[in-house]
This record gives sequence, structure tokens and C-alpha cells, in this order.
Amino acid sequence: MSGNFAHPDMQAPQVSFSNTEIAFKRFSNSDLRKAEWLFRTFNYPWLVRNGPTMASLAVSLGFKAVVKNTIFNHFCGGEHISACEATIDQLYRYGVGTILDYSVEGEEQESVFEATCLEIIHTIERAAGNDKIPFSVFKTTGIARFALLEKIQSGAALSTAEQAEWEAVRTRFARICRTAQERKVRIFVDAEESWIQEPIDSLAMEMMHLFNQEQAIVYNTIQLYRHDRLMYLTRTIQDTQCFMGFKLVRGAYMERERARAAELGYLDPIQPDKAAADRDYDAAIQVCIEHISRVSLCAGTHNEQSCIRLMKLMELHDVKPQDERVYFSQLLGMSDHISFNLSHAGYRVAKYVPYGPVKAVLPYLGRRAQENSAMAGQMGRELAMIRSERHRRTNG
Ligand SMILES: Cc1cc2nc3c(=O)[nH]c(=O)nc-3n(C[C@H](O)[C@H](O)[C@H](O)COP(=O)(O)OP(=O)(O)OC[C@H]3O[C@@H](n4cnc5c(N)ncnc54)[C@H](O)[C@@H]3O)c2cc1C
Repeated sequence: MSGNFAHPDMQAPQVSFSNTEIAFKRFSNSDLRKAEWLFRTFNYPWLVRNGPTMASLAVSLGFKAVVKNTIFNHFCGGEHISACEATIDQLYRYGVGTILDYSVEGEEQESVFEATCLEIIHTIERAAGNDKIPFSVFKTTGIARFALLEKIQSGAALSTAEQAEWEAVRTRFARICRTAQERKVRIFVDAEESWIQEPIDSLAMEMMHLFNQEQAIVYNTIQLYRHDRLMYLTRTIQDTQCFMGFKLVRGAYMERERARAAELGYLDPIQPDKAAADRDYDAAIQVCIEHISRVSLCAGTHNEQSCIRLMKLMELHDVKPQDERVYFSQLLGMSDHISFNLSHAGYRVAKYVPYGPVKAVLPYLGRRAQENSAMAGQMGRELAMIRSERHRRTNG
């Protein structure tokens, strides 16, 4: 495994992320006006803080349409797979694939886990043989109880009932991955909190061994905001002989990770600072590209510098932009300036398209609002891009 990172000054491929005409081609003027209004509301901290409660109340009181016509429609494909068709076609028209993400969270009953498993299998069936949908995805906590995963990771003995519950989880996990292999659809296993990630990693690795014999079908996700994950990735690549797939992300649960570590008094799993997370992210991209003959990767990021770095590394290692083993991925409704400019330049790009009943995806929408309001006192990047495109359209 090489520790020499590629020279940062190597020639950047010709992709401009500031081309808003390409970025927002799919948006009409009225869509853009709505998007500007939405991102402006994220600049009001009290609204972002109380938004999820207000939205939940609005839905309960019968004002679902208000939520649906605003934040939901911007960030989600629809309430059912069939309602996502328009989004799938629209993205594909500009060369961007869809990853159908069933975004129901926080459920705890076996019957719901079974139903979610069937829904994930449905997304795989929908993706089979369809260039518009290059991947499927799932969260293990969509098919398993969080506390069970936590108990397994802690090493505590499981009761007989829990052992049976765990067996059911393993069966669901394997069923999803087996269907993906049979239907030749690549599938991402999302990464979650560090205190439940070990059983997720074990299951994902077991499935890679079973189903990645001819190509990378099962992809695990690596969070580089954790200080131990670059090492995990490097070791796994060294020690595993089958094809492997990795989705590389920085990570979504930083505050929760830090708070738990402080409360329980163990070493904070998160990097000391953002620069360290960025450094490991870029190193992880490099490790994957250096092993591209066995390793496929998806850069799940809204960070322009990381995307540029990946493009440079692809060029350096003679990996063509259209190579199926390297994907860039962003979330629907965010970073269109990255997604559409990359696809315009011939790179493989797919967007997560979350879907599910409005009320059930509210936690997801709350996180998007939070993320886009993070830069206090500064115009958010999305808002700046939208304004720039509106200005360009008005002034020609
Ligand atoms: C397609 C896709 C799939 C995703 N899948 C997952 C998934 O499976 N699991 C998951 O957890 N997340 C997932 N994410 C969310 C992803 O982790 C967040 O989008 C990401 O954290 C935002 O980082 P960024 O790479 O876009 O860029 P940036 O905006 O450059 O980075 C912001 C991130 O850097 C990290 N960071 C910020 N400050 C610090 C600090 N002081 N110290 C250390 N780290 C810091 C945090 O992770 C923060 O979110 C996914 C995102 C996308 C686009």
C-alpha cells in the first residue's frame, strides 16, 4: 500500500463547478424561485430548529400539502417509488442516475423491518437492467433494531429471543444482497453510528465475500470523519481477495458521536478537526484508485475539492471518466453544480433520491435544513448558486 499521495499540482481535468447554466438546466424559472425561497428560510435559525416539529404538526393537522409542495418536493422523489418516475427521468436526461433511498427512519417493530426489507427489494427490482438507476441502497437500522446492534457490538450475551431476532436480521440482510447479485444491481450499505457499525461491517464483509466474486455488487460505506477508518479501509483492501466496493463519505453523526464519547468517557472516535477528516477522505480515495482492479468506489460528497482530487487521480491512473468502477454521488436537491457539471463532462454520477411517506421522512428533511443553515451569517452555497443562476437568466 503506497503512502505517497499523488502530487496536488497535477493537471486538473476541465470541469467548472461554477457553471450554473448546466447545474440548473432541469429547473424552470418558477422552480428556481421556489428553491431560492426554500434556501432563504434555512437562514432563520429558529425556523430550522423548530421546523421538524412545526412540519410534523402541520402534517398531523392535515396541512401535508404545505410540507409536500415545499421542502419535501425539493429533497425527495415522492411518497412511493412510482411517484419518483418524473425525477428519475429528469435526472437521466442530463446524464445523472438515481439511487432510490427508502427513507423511513426510527421504526422498531419486526413487521416494519420485514416491510422495509420488501421495499428495498422492490428498489432492486426497479433498478434491474435499468441504466437510470445504477445502485440501490439501505440502512441496516431499517431492517434491525438499533439497541440489538448496540448490544451485539458491546459483546454482551444475547437472550434466546435476541438470538432469534439477530438471525432474522441476518436473513433479511442476506436476502437483500442476494437479490442484488441475482439482479446484477450494485447495492450500498449505509454507514451509521460508531457504536453499531461493527456488526454492520461484519455483515457487509460477509456479503462481499459471498456476492462480489465476479464484480463489486455489495458496497460498504466508510466514514472518514472517524480517525480509525482509513486504517480499516487500508487493512480490509490488503486482506480481502474478492472484488470490493466502498462508498466514501465524511459522516453524518458528528455531534451525536462526540456527545456520547464525552458522556461515557471514551476516546472520541471523530477526527480532531475538519482538516484531518479532509486529509483522510482524500487518502481513502487514493487508496481505492490505486487498487481499482479489485476496488470500486463511490465518492458520496458535496466537497468540490474532493471531487477535483478524484478526477485528477483518475487521470493519473488512467481511469476513464466513464469507467463504471468510479461514481460520484450527491443528494437530490443539493450540489447540483457538482452533479450536473461532472455528468456533463462525462463522469459517472448518481443522486440519492429519498422517498417515503411525508411524515416518515421529516427527520431526513430536518437534517437537510440543518446542513444548509450551518454557515451562520453567510449566504449558503446552494443559495448563492441559485441566485447566480437567476441573475444569469435575467441578464442573459
Ligand atoms: C451520496 C451520499 C451518501 C451518503 N451516505 C452516508 C452514509 O452512509 N453514512 C453517513 O454517515 N453519511 C452519509 N452521507 C452524508 C455525508 O457524510 C455528509 O454529506 C457529509 O458529512 C458532508 O460532507 P461532504 O463530504 O459533503 O463535505 P464537507 O461539507 O466538506 O464536510 C462536512 C463534513 O465534514 C466533517 N466535519 C466537519 N467538521 C469537522 C470537524 N471539526 N472534525 C471532523 N470532521 C468534521 C463532518 O462529517 C461534516 O459533515 C452521504 C452523503 C452523500 C452525498
